[in-house]
Amino acid sequence: MEIDEPDQVTVAMAEPVAVESASAMEPPRIRRLDDSVVNRIAAGEVIQRPVSAVKELVENSLDAGSTSISVVVKDGGLKLIQVSDNGHGIRYEDLPILCERHTTSKLSAYEDLQTIKSMGFRGEALASMTYVAHVTVTTITEGQLHGYRVSYRDGVMEQEPKPCAAVKGTQIMVENLFYNMIARRKTLQNSSDDYAKIVDLISRFALHNSNVSFSCRKHGANRADVHSVTTSSKLDAIKNIYGISVARDLMEITVSDDNPSQSIFKMNGYISNANYTAKKTIMVLFINDRLVECSALKRAIEVVYSATLPKASKPFLYMSIEFPPEHVDVNIHPTKREVSLLNQESLIETIQTAVEYKLINNNTTRTFQTQVVHSTPATKFASKKDTENNPSHSGIKSQNVPNNHMVRTDSRDPFGRLHAYWQDGPFSQHEKKSDLASVRISVRQRRNPRESSDLSSIHELLSEIDQSIHPGLLDIVRNCTYIGLADEIFALLQYNTHLYLVNVVNVSKELMYQQVVRRFAHFNAIQLSEPAPIPELLIMALKDEDLESAGDNDDDLKTKIAEMNTESLKQKAEMLEEYFCINIDQEGNLMRLPVILEQHTPDMDHVPEFLLSLANDVDWENEKDCFQGISAVLGNFYAMHPPVLPNPAGEGIQLYKKNKDKSGSIGHTAEVPGQDDLDQELLAEAETTWAQREWNIQHVLFPSMRLFLKPPKSMATDGTFVKVASLEKLYRIFERC
Ligand code: ADP
Ligand code: MG
Repeated sequence: MEIDEPDQVTVAMAEPVAVESASAMEPPRIRRLDDSVVNRIAAGEVIQRPVSAVKELVENSLDAGSTSISVVVKDGGLKLIQVSDNGHGIRYEDLPILCERHTTSKLSAYEDLQTIKSMGFRGEALASMTYVAHVTVTTITEGQLHGYRVSYRDGVMEQEPKPCAAVKGTQIMVENLFYNMIARRKTLQNSSDDYAKIVDLISRFALHNSNVSFSCRKHGANRADVHSVTTSSKLDAIKNIYGISVARDLMEITVSDDNPSQSIFKMNGYISNANYTAKKTIMVLFINDRLVECSALKRAIEVVYSATLPKASKPFLYMSIEFPPEHVDVNIHPTKREVSLLNQESLIETIQTAVEYKLINNNTTRTFQTQVVHSTPATKFASKKDTENNPSHSGIKSQNVPNNHMVRTDSRDPFGRLHAYWQDGPFSQHEKKSDLASVRISVRQRRNPRESSDLSSIHELLSEIDQSIHPGLLDIVRNCTYIGLADEIFALLQYNTHLYLVNVVNVSKELMYQQVVRRFAHFNAIQLSEPAPIPELLIMALKDEDLESAGDNDDDLKTKIAEMNTESLKQKAEMLEEYFCINIDQEGNLMRLPVILEQHTPDMDHVPEFLLSLANDVDWENEKDCFQGISAVLGNFYAMHPPVLPNPAGEGIQLYKKNKDKSGSIGHTAEVPGQDDLDQELLAEAETTWAQREWNIQHVLFPSMRLFLKPPKSMATDGTFVKVASLEKLYRIFERC
C-alpha cells in the first residue's frame, strides 16, 4: 500500500506532459514525486474541507472514549479548528510518531480490518492535517501530573514536547488550514457555508452519540450553536438538537433481518410522519456507529415517502444500522464517507418495505387524529408547521400563492413542484366541515357517475374559480381580437385601443384546469391508438428528470420507482376512470384520456411527465386536494406548451442540419443552410407540429377562452397578461408577426 501510492500519483502527473511532447517523439522522463508533494496530494484527499478535518478529529475523540467533546471554529475552520475531549489522551512516547502517515493505535494487521470497531484505523488523518495546516496537540494521560504540548508540520514534530498544565484528555488545534494550497483556500474563502456544515456534522454526531455531550461554537462567541446534554433517550436527543418541532413528528422504527442468504443486520431509528414537512430530506445514517452516507438508501426511502405521503415527501430520517463488521467494506473511500455494503439491494428493500408499512399505518393514525381535531378550534393547532407559514384557512403553503394560481407551475419545471402549491394538512376549511375518513369512504363508495358532480369538493373548487375572477381581465378575454403569435409563448391581442401580450401556456393551463373541474365525471374519451405501457413511460420521464437535474443514473432504482408508481396508479384506476376518464388497465397500460376541449388533443410527447406527475404530485388522501391535484396535472398536460421539436422558423433551422459538426466554426451557423444539408423529414414534421399549434391557438384556444376562461386575479400581475405600452416594443413584435 505505502509503496503503491506514490507510483500511482507519479503516473497520473506525468500524463499531460506525455501528450504535450508527443510531437518531439522523445518519451518524457518519469520521475518519482517528492514525498512532501505526494503527502500533500493525499492530504488534500482526506481533508477536503474544514468539515472533513472536524469529522476526523471528533472521531478520534470518540475512539478515545470521551464523554465530552467541544469544538471551536474560526473563519469557517480556515483560521482555526479546535477539538477538545476528555478521552484517554496520548502517551508521551507516542507523540513523536503521532502525525506520521500510517501510524495508528487501532490496527496492526490487515485481518484486523474485518473486526474493526473504531472509526479510525488508517492513521492518516492527523498526518494529513500537518501537511496542509499547523497542528498543535495538548494531551495528558491518566495518572500524569502534567500534560504535553507539541506542534507538527509535514508529519514531524517541530520541537520536543513541552510540559504544560492540562485537563484530562486531548486538545487538537488545527490552524491556517490549506495555507499551502492557495487555490483550495481561495474557493473555500468564498463559500460561507462551512461553519453551517460543521454545525450540521456535530448535530449528527450528537444525535447518535447521545451518551456524549457535544458543543460547537464560533471562536469568541458566548453561545454554542450545538449544545447537547447526555441522555439515554434518542427522542430527547433529537428534541435537544433538532428541536421539538422535529421530535414531535417522529415515529420509532426497528427492522432486522437474520436471513444469511440476504443480509444480516439490525436497524433502529426514527422517521418523520405525515405531519412533518421540510424543504430538504435530512438523513442521519450511522452504520456500525460510523457516520456515513448511502445515497441509494436515501433515494429508496424518499420514493416511499413521495408515493405514500406526497406532502411529507422530504422526510427526517435517523437510522442506525448494525452489521456484522465483516459485511461492511469501510475501506473504499479515503474519507470513509460513502460505504458499500454486501447485499446492499436486499438491505435497501427490507428497509424500504418497513418504512412503507410504518407510513401506511401512520396514515390511519392521522385520519383518526383528524377526527379529534375537527371538533377543536383550528387556532389550537397554530403551532403546526404549515399553519405557521400561512395562517389563512386555505392552508396553502408558504409561497402565499392564491388558490386560483395553483395550476400554474413553472413551465420549465412542469412536474415535481405542483404539490408545493396545493392545500396541505388536515386543517383546510373543507375538512373542518367534514370528517376526512368518511369523505374517503364516501368517495370510494360512490359508484354512480351522474351523482358524482354533486360532490361538495367539486362545488368548492368551482366557487373558488368564481371568487377569484379578475373582472377587467374577464372583459378583455371576452371582447378581444386575436392578432397572432408574437413568439413561442406570447400571443398578441387587441382590446379596444390597447394591445396585450398573453402568455399562451399560462392561459391554456388555467383554461384546461377549469374545464376539467367543470366537466368532472362527464368526459368523452380519447382512445389511444395502442396501449401505452406506464412503467416504460415513467422510466422515460425519470431519465428526463435526471438529465435536467444531473442526478445519479441508477437504472434499477428508476425501474423500482416506475413499478411502485404504476402500482399506485393501478390502485387508483377505478376513481381515475370514473371521474376523469383516465383509463388504466390491469396490465398497467394507459388506454384512454379525457376530452377536455373539443378538437384538442394533448401533445403525446408529454405523456411521460404527465404520468409521473399524476403518480407523485397528487394528494390522494383528501378528496378536494385530490381532485384539484388531478385537474391541475391534466391542465398542465393539455396546455399548449411549445412543441418538443425546436421551432424551424428563424435560427431554429440550424438544428435540422444533417451534419452539424461538419458545418465548422460558429461564424457559419448564421448562414441559412442549403436544402441538401437539412434533415427534410424531421423538418417537415417540425413545421407541421408548429403550424398545427399555431392553428390550435387561434381556432381552438382563443375561441374557447372567450367562452369559458374565468381569468384569476393573479394573471393581472404575474406576467400572463402584459399591456404593450411602448411603441418600440410594438415595432419589434410586428416585425415578428
Ligand atoms: P486513526 O484514527 O486512523 O488511527 P489518526 O491519524 O486519526 O489515525 O490518529 C492517529 C492516532 O492518534 C490514533 O490511532 C490515536 O491513537 C491517536 N489519537 C488521535 N487523536 C486522539 C485523541 N483525541 N485522543 C487520544 N488519542 C488520539
Ligand atoms: Mg482518526
